[in-house]
Amino acid sequence: MSGWSRIVAHADMDAFYASVEQLDRPELRGRPVLVGPRSGRGVVLTASYEARPFEVGSAMPMAQALKRCPHAEVVPPRFERYTEVSAAIMDVFCDFSPRVEPLSLDEAFIDMTGAQHIFGPPQDMGHAIKSAIFEATGGLTISVGIAETKHVAKVASAANKPNGLTVIAPGTARAWLAPQPVNRLWGVGPKTETRLRALGYHMIDDIACADPDQLSEDLGQSGRHLWDLSRARDPRHVETRRTARSMGSERTLSVDVSDPIQIRHYLQRSADRLARRLRSKGRSAGGVRVRLKTTDFQLLSRQCVLPAPTDTAADLHRYACSILDRFDHPGPYRLVGMAVFDLHEANQPVQMGLLANERKRALEVVLDSVCEKFGTTSLQRARDLDSGTVQATTPDLDFIDNAPDTDG
Ligand SMILES: [Mg+2]
Repeated sequence: MSGWSRIVAHADMDAFYASVEQLDRPELRGRPVLVGPRSGRGVVLTASYEARPFEVGSAMPMAQALKRCPHAEVVPPRFERYTEVSAAIMDVFCDFSPRVEPLSLDEAFIDMTGAQHIFGPPQDMGHAIKSAIFEATGGLTISVGIAETKHVAKVASAANKPNGLTVIAPGTARAWLAPQPVNRLWGVGPKTETRLRALGYHMIDDIACADPDQLSEDLGQSGRHLWDLSRARDPRHVETRRTARSMGSERTLSVDVSDPIQIRHYLQRSADRLARRLRSKGRSAGGVRVRLKTTDFQLLSRQCVLPAPTDTAADLHRYACSILDRFDHPGPYRLVGMAVFDLHEANQPVQMGLLANERKRALEVVLDSVCEKFGTTSLQRARDLDSGTVQATTPDLDFIDNAPDTDG
């Protein structure tokens, strides 16, 4: 166990949403389960492992997934339940280390440096985390990767899913990464992968052996970063954040949009929903992110940090609209969404009202109670009822941010 400069664990629940459904509904166990909206135009959020041999995965349109796996059970997501299980999981992580960095509802980095005298060598740490999660959740499995750097730990946790444990000993990380395909590098999505392969980089070792200046020329800023990662260099530390989670609201549209007025309209609805959820949880947000999906399924996002935390729709909408200009893709888009991050407890005396004026906030609070009593559809903005407005076929999909590459 000596020789470890740092011990970083990355722990990631297996097919999280689907596994929670199978846990809560025993009749779903052993069966292919697709968590997502029943409507054909929505996308799969998580596929259970029983569905994966049919080449069904997250972010795939539900209609396509059902063509490949017609006997799958489609289960609408229950985010409140997932959030509840997530809290239990994060509590377990915090029993192992005070330095926990959640990446999404179901995964986190855990800095275990210096904890050998309590938990034993890294292999034992991994087993201890896995059995603690299994026990705390009543039977869910997690995959754990342990390495000296965050990046290698992240790649390692995905290496033996589900229910895996992969420990990459000091000095072996570069050789372990070398023969793996480039898309295993954290941050390489389908678009970058295509680009890398077109340039002749197929294995991680191809990048490690490349000239870093050439890579920068080929790939811009990320070239040097990928070169470092491919050589198992990653100086980033596990960062404990106040609340790393974000929450979001997005919708897949029945008709693709590119008109900024329509995009603003959908952002308004997301802002309304998010602000209401923030207030109901006593939170305020320090940042706003806008997400747009192009008709060829590129997911684009831009974000900004707010001058002060807020919980009003007026502020969220204003800042979301202010970053729309930063999207350089002309559209059209098939999905419009917004997320808020850097969530604060609203009981901290934040400078509420510094952004929205108090009157607007008071009005929104009144609307909360109306919605609570009569349902969220009881009050609609007049322009939503305008027959000229594009109607969405799916209900707003509230989600807790979970990057597609982190799901598994
Ligand atoms: Mg996962």
